[in-house]
Amino acid sequence: GATLGVLGGGQLGRMFAHAAQRMGYFTAVLDPDADSPAGRVSHHHIHTDYTDIDGLARLAGLADAITTEFENVPAPSLEHLAVARPVAPGAASVAIAQDRIREKAHFIRCGVACAPHAVIETAAHLAAVADDLLPGILKTARLGYDGKGQQRVATREALAAAWDATGGVPCVLEKLLPLDFECSVIVARGQDGQMVHLPAQRNLHRDGILAVTEVHPDNMPARQAELAVQSTRSIAEGLRYVGVLCVEYFVLADGSMVVNEMAPRPHNSGHWSMDACDVSQFELQVRTLAGLPLTAPRQHSPAVMLNLLGDLWFGAGDDTTAVEPPWADVLALPGTHLHLYGKTTARRGRKMGHLNITGTDIDAVRATADFAAAVLGLPIPLSE
Ligand code: ATP
Ligand code: MG
Ligand code: MG
Repeated sequence: GATLGVLGGGQLGRMFAHAAQRMGYFTAVLDPDADSPAGRVSHHHIHTDYTDIDGLARLAGLADAITTEFENVPAPSLEHLAVARPVAPGAASVAIAQDRIREKAHFIRCGVACAPHAVIETAAHLAAVADDLLPGILKTARLGYDGKGQQRVATREALAAAWDATGGVPCVLEKLLPLDFECSVIVARGQDGQMVHLPAQRNLHRDGILAVTEVHPDNMPARQAELAVQSTRSIAEGLRYVGVLCVEYFVLADGSMVVNEMAPRPHNSGHWSMDACDVSQFELQVRTLAGLPLTAPRQHSPAVMLNLLGDLWFGAGDDTTAVEPPWADVLALPGTHLHLYGKTTARRGRKMGHLNITGTDIDAVRATADFAAAVLGLPIPLSE
């Protein structure tokens, strides 16, 4: 049988491997960690650095096509692999998604509005920042995730100190916007340019980390959902993207929408599709990688996803003793689907799993989600 390869051994790679194996593929994972969530469930595990030429050659020898689950995989490694094997998404798309400066330029090129922002690469850029970008959020151009690498700044002095604290690396200052809510859209685009999408997802973040996703026909006004889908399709088309792409949006208090950022891979906000859709985002990833046909995914149930962070393993204030949350009490509720990533140690803020809740109508699903959240000790209410 054919083997599909993935760079990165985290939970996204693990769920990709599960989807690939269900469809008859063998999987090969490359990750520096000898005991990674994806490596543990794969047929082949290459335990080495992402830039190790020998390791990449071994992956290319094992796998018929290669994808990535890890946003910051070095683009040159993807280029290197692409000489030997089909690689999706391609190095050029991943390189743009890894750099907020290039990413924003791409959004603007595609006619999709971003938050007002300024690029800060030099002291002169810093001095030239317009006052109306404050208060704002200073984001490092590269390597941030889950709100890491971001600092809120209210004054020019705070901005200068914050940029200093980054070591003066390239950054983007974004105006702090009054958000009504956040949403995201996932598209899958094949080698032949065919594109399908999942319904627009409404997301709630806490402390810069995704906490809750809700997907059902009334999760947001149709106008905004349609705009988010169309914008995502334009962004993918503009990249000649191959694979699964997620784009995040802010809907502002005045009803307007701006794009936030994109992820060149399946996304935490798409995990609901594993239980509420006939084709999950991971099956879409397998299909695009293997050159299989894409059909429009159909959502068959309203869905709420609760992210399960390592905090759940610890009582208030006590970070020393990890206690397994009461899964049986949650699984006693109808329509709950528990996904745990097989991570051996819990840490605050670490993504350990997610709980999908499905049912016949959104009110019942929400009621179950509230109940599950209460059982787990998650903050309630689950909406803004
Ligand atoms: P991810 O894990 O999604 O990749 P990230 O570290 O790349 O996160 P962003 O998506 O840029 O971070 O921001 C994280 C969250 O911070 C957003 O989802 C939003 O809640 C808030 N946020 C970011 N930028 C702004 C802004 N300009 N105005 C208001 N809130 C913002
Ligand atoms: Mg990000
Ligand atoms: Mg984000």
